[in-house]
Amino acid sequence: MDKSTFLYTPGKDGKDTGNCRSCKMFLKQHGICSLHGPKVKINGGMSCGLWVTGGPAVESEMEHVSVAVTPKESGLIEAEVRCVNCEYYKDSKKECLLFEILGIEDHTVEANGCCNAWHAEKEGKKEEKKEGIKRTLRPLKKF
Ligand code: SF4
Ligand code: SF4
Repeated sequence: MDKSTFLYTPGKDGKDTGNCRSCKMFLKQHGICSLHGPKVKINGGMSCGLWVTGGPAVESEMEHVSVAVTPKESGLIEAEVRCVNCEYYKDSKKECLLFEILGIEDHTVEANGCCNAWHAEKEGKKEEKKEGIKRTLRPLKKF
């Protein structure tokens, strides 16, 4: 087992890593996602387990919109899903507590990285600074 088991990705998309606004499936102008279909309204601050780096999509990709998954199947939530906002992030060491507990040898992570095991740290708080990075902590909204 290593970090890839949880689809860990470093912060290559900066503060947008893991959110719809940087996902290739996100059709920004239409506020929808290619995988969830035209009836599920999506905004850039949402996220799901099927995130694909390199977005948003180009608008010519409208023809690819389908209803491949439901929000429940994809784990759609509204949250800023980076490590810095995760319950398991040890900011003093830039390590992931979950990966450490599971015995993953290299459990270092980036503040702006993310993975599919993300868990909201403090629900309900608005914003605060950590490591000079502005954290956005909103009530976790599941669909
Ligand atoms: S809902 Fe999931 S697949 Fe769709 S745009 Fe957002 S992260 Fe990408
Ligand atoms: S800190 Fe959270 S989001 Fe980051 S790698 Fe660990 S479990 Fe995943």
